[in-house]
Amino acid sequence: MERDFDLYFKRGIKMKCALYSGSFDPITKGHKDIIRRASKMCDRLIVAVLNNSSKNYLFSLEEREEMLKKSLKEFKNIEIISFDGLLVELMKKIECRYIIRGLRAVADYEYELALAYGNYEISDEQVETIFIPASKKYLYLSSSMVREIAKYEGKLSNYLEDYIADRLKAKIKGR
Ligand code: ADP
Repeated sequence: MERDFDLYFKRGIKMKCALYSGSFDPITKGHKDIIRRASKMCDRLIVAVLNNSSKNYLFSLEEREEMLKKSLKEFKNIEIISFDGLLVELMKKIECRYIIRGLRAVADYEYELALAYGNYEISDEQVETIFIPASKKYLYLSSSMVREIAKYEGKLSNYLEDYIADRLKAKIKGR
């Protein structure tokens, strides 16, 4: 008889805490897919919204946090925080040593590997990065791509939740 895999793995051992960081400008279905999968790997998943002063975001930090909150309310073990500065300093402060990152096509690889090595080295080899491979259907999905599609009023339903798509369209119209 075929059994649901869920039955076997529900009570498996998990990490106590992991952190998923990103700009989420705005949150896409690709981000949410990684969050859903990561949330099953740990007791507590912290989603950290990057607010780098040298970056030009479309949405303000408050808007990005608000959209995340709304989009992630079905998850019980998730906390949303914001940060700027060195990620390893934040990790130290919250005593969490695992960073989750999503890995899409080859283009992500160099950048993500450099980040992972950097964080490992400057944390005296304490902070590890765990990569989750992007789901096939979201392999080429990025926030910058949806911003571009929205600019030309293209179809967003495969990439964004309706509420986020509406916010994005309104934002771009108002510019
Ligand atoms: P950044 O500004 O660091 O690129 P993003 O918000 O774009 O931040 O992404 C945060 C993390 O989510 C990164 O690890 C990125 O690779 C991952 N990610 C983004 N889009 C997807 C997707 N479609 N599928 C899987 N992972 C993704």
